[in-house]
Amino acid sequence: MAQVKLENVRKVFPGNIEAVKDFTLDIDNNEFIVLVGPSGCGKSTTLRMIAGLEEISAGKISIGDRVVNDLPPKDRDIAMVFQNYALYPHMTVYDNMAFSLKLRKMPRAEIKQRVQEAANLLSINDLLARRPKELSGGQRQRVAVGRAIVRHPAVFLFDEPLSNLDAKLRVQMRVEISRLHNTLDATMIYVTHDQVEAMTMGDRIVVMRDGDVQQVASPTELYDNPANQFVASFIGTPPMNFLNGRVARDNGGLVFEEGSCTIAIPANFQDALEPFVDKPLVFGIRPEDVGSEAAEHDSPAYISAGIDVVEPMGSETMLYMRTEDNTFISRIDPHRTCRAGDKMKLALNMDKAHFFEPETEEVVA
Ligand code: ATP
Repeated sequence: MAQVKLENVRKVFPGNIEAVKDFTLDIDNNEFIVLVGPSGCGKSTTLRMIAGLEEISAGKISIGDRVVNDLPPKDRDIAMVFQNYALYPHMTVYDNMAFSLKLRKMPRAEIKQRVQEAANLLSINDLLARRPKELSGGQRQRVAVGRAIVRHPAVFLFDEPLSNLDAKLRVQMRVEISRLHNTLDATMIYVTHDQVEAMTMGDRIVVMRDGDVQQVASPTELYDNPANQFVASFIGTPPMNFLNGRVARDNGGLVFEEGSCTIAIPANFQDALEPFVDKPLVFGIRPEDVGSEAAEHDSPAYISAGIDVVEPMGSETMLYMRTEDNTFISRIDPHRTCRAGDKMKLALNMDKAHFFEPETEEVVA
């Protein structure tokens, strides 16, 4: 298995379309890296440049200790799994999986052993004689993964491999790919637009937007300490709440003024927020940190708002709230009784508060 290194990698398509601006990342041996971001952010292009399917406009890509900029895909020791599976329709599952090994003139017995091993790992032994059209979507996806496994590549590349599956199967395959990663001890780079996939599968996640890397961090770090409003709103469902207001001085401390509410800001934020006193600021707080029991415990900070909509989800209830100036979501215990139209005073868990500068949208505290 191998490390993958991208240094100042850039891709400009004809027409001056800057798909990837300046991508630098060291991927560890056996690491599971997820590239995530909205459609068009450059994640597939980045993956395709690592695969050698797209030339790079500038920078350097290394796999293991080799610079691969000028190597064709077949010499990069990678295997790619695509969204559309890309199986050969006229071949059986066995032949689809064996194909690349036959091309490499591998002895027949070794091919058989590798296909069997992969089929065992993916529980598709009884499908080996079928053709792709005789398989379900999930089975086809397994074959596509199997075809990558038999090559024993240094790096697996996945391009939205689960997007064609229904929601239930997607969850199942997600777990299978994570399990596979643990079993194979392989370096994996995985592209998705689905933040839940990114959070559940990645050792580290690269959040991209408009060809730029926004933040690279572990799932927990991204969730707890987003670098900007884009990351804060992209990671987490429902996303982080953003309330527009301003920071002001009050009795020697600081408060956040949001419409008719004055929210006490804990002392540990004071230094970072001092330069922003009397300026507009965005207060960010996750739904579970507004009105939850944890927040209610000993918080001196509150916000008053009216309930627009109550959404019982079973394990939790979402409240869609409205103040004079802002709307936000509160995630509360499902056993609390709340009705649309009620006014509530909700405690804020200020340990989990974030503040963003409204122009740059960067986090300031
Ligand atoms: P999606 O989730 O929709 O696949 P993505 O994040 O993978 O999106 P890319 O496919 O990497 O995005 O595309 C990044 C940008 O580059 C987009 O603006 C896209 O239109 C552009 N692009 C991609 N391929 C080409 C191409 N062959 N020629 C010109 N522009 C391209």
